[in-house]
Amino acid sequence: MATKRSVSTLKEADLKGKRVLVRVDLNVPLDDNLNITDDTRIRAAVPTIKYLQSHGAKLILCSHLGRPKGVTPKYSLKPLVPRLSELLGLEVCSLFTRVKMGNDCIGEEVKKIVDELPEGGVLLLENVRFYKEEEKNDPEFAKKLASLADVYVNDAFGTAHRAHASTEGVAKYLKPAVAGFLMQKELDYLVGAVANPKRPFAAIVGGSKVSTKIGVIESLLGKVDLLLLGGGMIFTFYKAQGYSVGSSLVEEDKLDLATSLMEKAKLKGVSLLLPTDVVIADKFAADANSKVVPASSIPDGWLGLDIGPDSIKTFSEALDTTQTIIWNGPMGVFEFDKFAVGTEAIAKKLAELTAKGVTTIVGGGDSVAAVEKLGLAEKMSHISTGGGASLELLEGKPLPGVLALDDA
Ligand code: AMP
Repeated sequence: MATKRSVSTLKEADLKGKRVLVRVDLNVPLDDNLNITDDTRIRAAVPTIKYLQSHGAKLILCSHLGRPKGVTPKYSLKPLVPRLSELLGLEVCSLFTRVKMGNDCIGEEVKKIVDELPEGGVLLLENVRFYKEEEKNDPEFAKKLASLADVYVNDAFGTAHRAHASTEGVAKYLKPAVAGFLMQKELDYLVGAVANPKRPFAAIVGGSKVSTKIGVIESLLGKVDLLLLGGGMIFTFYKAQGYSVGSSLVEEDKLDLATSLMEKAKLKGVSLLLPTDVVIADKFAADANSKVVPASSIPDGWLGLDIGPDSIKTFSEALDTTQTIIWNGPMGVFEFDKFAVGTEAIAKKLAELTAKGVTTIVGGGDSVAAVEKLGLAEKMSHISTGGGASLELLEGKPLPGVLALDDA
């Protein structure tokens, strides 16, 4: 894999005895009884936290949870303390006590807990979004966060596309400001591997609408050798070519755009593959009647909900020739089992190719959900943790949370 690096990293920072403010993404789903229903994000934060602990840092973790309007108990980070402590081994380790937590993310109480932290000790700050100043990127609030620590580590890739006080503002007042391991890995793959790919380089773009993926498609057209399109967006491309698309999802105002994207691909020498057959349904439902038809002849009243078997074969054969693959967006309505076949086939193909040494990157959003549902997440080179952030990176946009780091 290519490893172009553009920001300073954790391994370059002097950590022993230092107070380190770590922006993590602990925005986990909680049920009505405040039980964590998916701890993936907490687990993803653990490598950076453990590294800091083992290097004698005093850790101050901060995160947002949900979208609270002011102080809202149901968005408190307190329910996360037991699980975080457990994952860090702090329940059983005699040297340290469990993760500490006060009632705020700034102020005297928090400062006192920080002063008492031992090396390797961990304090979790309360939800930074309890202050409206967080999302406003208020400099005074950022300074208060910065005043708690000697070093800033940003490991919250999922919020790096937002210029908030804890993701961007704080880095102006707290140096060194470096990337954590999770952030670093995302940048290595989504920037490094995409900028200097082993070729042939393929992108697979799916999802519902072409309008939400224009930026990604345009940016990737300048980089890839092969572009495979699937999902709901293909019907806009078909209609632009004069095919009958029945009741499939079409963005009428994007027909010209679809045509121009096809022309751009040709001009740039990118081989653009659209599915040759589709699975159509008589209604948008899990129990719809379905059949496979050529892409050019979808009957009236039917709608395309997945790519067909010939397309799966063609896509698979095309992918066999590649060395780097980036995938964003499902091939069909994978939420319905009957129309998940195309997405599953692509996920399995990528897993197979990863084992053969191909670099495979699943770039956020629903394709990640599909890969995880299939239990294939571990079989990819990289699964991006940030939906919006990975999309913006793939569009070639700089992320404020990354730009704020040293040497960015
Ligand atoms: P996106 O968030 O743009 O990546 O879109 C993901 C969504 O696209 C998923 O919820 C899929 O159900 C939906 N999708 C995929 N293929 C189709 C299709 N053929 N028609 C309608 N929606 C689709």
